[in-house]
Amino acid sequence: MKTKKTAIVTGGSGFVGSHLVDRLLAHDYRVIAVDNLVTGSVENLSHLEVNPDLELIEHDIVEPLVFSDPVDVIYNMASPASPADYLALPLETLRVGSCGTRHMLDLAREKKARFLMASTSEIYGDPQVHPQEESYWGNVNPIGPRSVYDEAKRFSEALTMQYHRSYQVQTRVVRIFNTYGPRMRPNDGRVVPAFCCQALKNQPLTVFGDGSQTRSFCYVSDLVRGLQMLMDSDCLEPVNIGNPLEMTVLQFAERIRSLCGSSSEIVFKVLPEDDPKIRQPDIRRAREALGWEPEMDMETGLKGTIDYFRNLIILGKA
Ligand code: NAD
Ligand code: UDP
Repeated sequence: MKTKKTAIVTGGSGFVGSHLVDRLLAHDYRVIAVDNLVTGSVENLSHLEVNPDLELIEHDIVEPLVFSDPVDVIYNMASPASPADYLALPLETLRVGSCGTRHMLDLAREKKARFLMASTSEIYGDPQVHPQEESYWGNVNPIGPRSVYDEAKRFSEALTMQYHRSYQVQTRVVRIFNTYGPRMRPNDGRVVPAFCCQALKNQPLTVFGDGSQTRSFCYVSDLVRGLQMLMDSDCLEPVNIGNPLEMTVLQFAERIRSLCGSSSEIVFKVLPEDDPKIRQPDIRRAREALGWEPEMDMETGLKGTIDYFRNLIILGKA
């Protein structure tokens, strides 16, 4: 009998991590989810409780991870990701991006495993190049409040590339753009759960600033397909994964309100410091190197996500 490959997914109890766990199990991996549950939840994996190929290790990757079995691939997804979360956990975010990434790279080196670093479009900061292609070095405020996340991820990328150069670790770097879908925490402060829950409860939709800032939203199943394709590729360069469909935050609010059939008003709140004004991925590299592109249309993706939050509200969990 052929033994299954083993994947470690740090942050495996989080929003993206749990969807990646689903995908890897469906592709015949044994999966070890490593998570300290700081922003994730065991509920995100509860549908897999009886799956013998999944193990959840509650562990903070800021400490070294001792694991005796062979490992084939490591997806390093652990980090607070919502601005509200990383602003509330600033030092933890810097630590997981630096010490946490280092420990997982050390494990990859020891196990001769492939390593994928989950980086972010935030490394482009408030971009002066549009759309953002991977060759752009970005415009990050290194001392502002968001820098705890942006600079931690920039350091993670640097460390990852250097482990490849110094130790020949097989590394991959993905720059993830705004992603949405079921299992986002209803109160994580990100725009998708905020607008969906507000619209479903007929509460005011809180648009920050005048809503003219843009984002481009990718459905989570497209993202995790891209993560696996990147891991399986021979692409050492960073790769943007995101959906290039760009819209203003105000247009997005109106879209969600209409899909929810809601009578919510739209109210304008203060724009957070250093909130990027524009964001759109250039995905030529993902297309050419991986043959990846997004497949989910926004209406279907948003309807499924709204159904998820509607159900949480009915259950009294949102
Ligand atoms: P999330 O908060 O739902 O998941 C992050 C997970 O990491 C959580 O389960 C959390 O408990 C865990 N974690 C945090 N610190 C840890 C630590 N020190 N040790 C072990 N586990 C730890 O966020 P998400 O949206 O699923 O994001 C996952 C990854 O993707 C993050 O690295 C994030 O930076 C990256 N990313 C996400 C997006 C997006 O739009 N969702 C965009 C860009 C980048
Ligand atoms: N935003 C908003 N209202 C909210 C939450 C967010 O207008 O209740 C805006 C936020 O200012 C940003 C965009 O929506 O311009 C996306 O925010 P999110 O926190 O989801 O992700 P970011 O791209 O900032 O990491």
